Amino acid sequence: MRYFIDTYGCQMNEYDSGLIASMMEENGCLPTEDPAEADFFFFNTCSIREKAEETAIARISKMTYYKKKRDGIKFIVTGCMAKHLGARLVERVRAIDFVIGPDNYKKIPEVLFSHPVPVIKRTLSKRIITDFNEEENYLGETAKISTPISSYITIQRGCNKHCSYCIVPYVRGPEKYRNPSDVIREVTLAAEKGVSEITLLGQTVNAYKSSDMDFADLLLKVSEVKGIHRVRFMSPHPKHYTEKLIDILLSIPQICPHAHIPLQSGSDRILKKMHRQHTLDEFMCILEKFRGKDPFYGLTTDIITGFVGEEKEDFEATLQAVKDAQFDAAFMFSYSPREGTESAKETEVLSEEEKQARLETLVELQNNITLERNKLMIGRTEEVLVERPSTKNSSEWVGKTGNFKKIIFSSNSAKPGDYILCHIDSVRGWTLRGTPTIK
Ligand code: SF4
Repeated sequence: MRYFIDTYGCQMNEYDSGLIASMMEENGCLPTEDPAEADFFFFNTCSIREKAEETAIARISKMTYYKKKRDGIKFIVTGCMAKHLGARLVERVRAIDFVIGPDNYKKIPEVLFSHPVPVIKRTLSKRIITDFNEEENYLGETAKISTPISSYITIQRGCNKHCSYCIVPYVRGPEKYRNPSDVIREVTLAAEKGVSEITLLGQTVNAYKSSDMDFADLLLKVSEVKGIHRVRFMSPHPKHYTEKLIDILLSIPQICPHAHIPLQSGSDRILKKMHRQHTLDEFMCILEKFRGKDPFYGLTTDIITGFVGEEKEDFEATLQAVKDAQFDAAFMFSYSPREGTESAKETEVLSEEEKQARLETLVELQNNITLERNKLMIGRTEEVLVERPSTKNSSEWVGKTGNFKKIIFSSNSAKPGDYILCHIDSVRGWTLRGTPTIK
């Protein structure tokens, strides 16, 4: 039997796909990337925007082609959309056999392999398994590693923040934190398999706490694991960038000099409407601590334009904040209401065209800043983790600097997983070009 996993959305879904893969392989299933030979199709989905859901539903519908060709194939939808839409998914795509929410993945083997009742005879409620489970932290489970170099490890699930636009608390439930010893066990196992870069994941990853550790303590422990050379994390919340955490981020060499800090808006009025729990000043103070110590510290962010109630002055405040912050890169979106969230109940005044126009203005501004920030790197020598050969030129390699910039360089001897020193010669588009110096 073979399984095929289609993963959408954030890195937490990538990690969860690794968990599902491990469970399938423990039950004797083999992976396949060719849907034509799969017996089990997993669609590990995202709900963050309506478009993400519609994309996944369109893909599932398209994949029914394989189901019609061969008997016995099972379609299983997992991830945030499973929790969000539940039975409505089966109504939309009849070919779906199971809808399994993020707290229920341990039930997958039982659902697929031990149940004597054929799917067709199971009641709808037996096929929709999406309850929250506040205890479920996948203790003792080890996600299958997707790349031999770099690995994601989830340490925190859910969110207590309830930002007014965000669906995450409704589909992932309240915050829960993995036991630190379980995290270190998984990091150690990854390091023993050759992984040298770990990215710790959580919806508000820096809110992490256990009975005797906070996020800063856990980062320290992870960075001490033998074989771990780089530690990163996603996605933090500005509120939890404590003095202690910033000190640790700036002082431990294994922790990469890159912080992702979601701004969302440069207007305090909009930040308040969003329930973001920080002001622009507080946000800028955090940035200053990093850039004051290291002007090349990588800073990235998330921004929403056209949030409900966003006036022209609010948008201009965002543009000004982006100019002041000098982010290296940003994920930028125009606001899209999500059913069930607080802000979705408010009537939008801005037209789609105006929201899109604001987004384009912001993207153009940020793209210019990204280019200028990258040009500042020219002439420096940076440590690069070699990731893969370039798809365009087989004698070239793609890697990443510590401050999270993509770099391309030529080498006859590089291989994935190597750390090399690269002199940065130029910038093409948003990508750095470099020349290896010494290994
Ligand atoms: S902190 Fe992030 S995940 Fe949590 S509600 Fe806000 S935007 Fe959503």
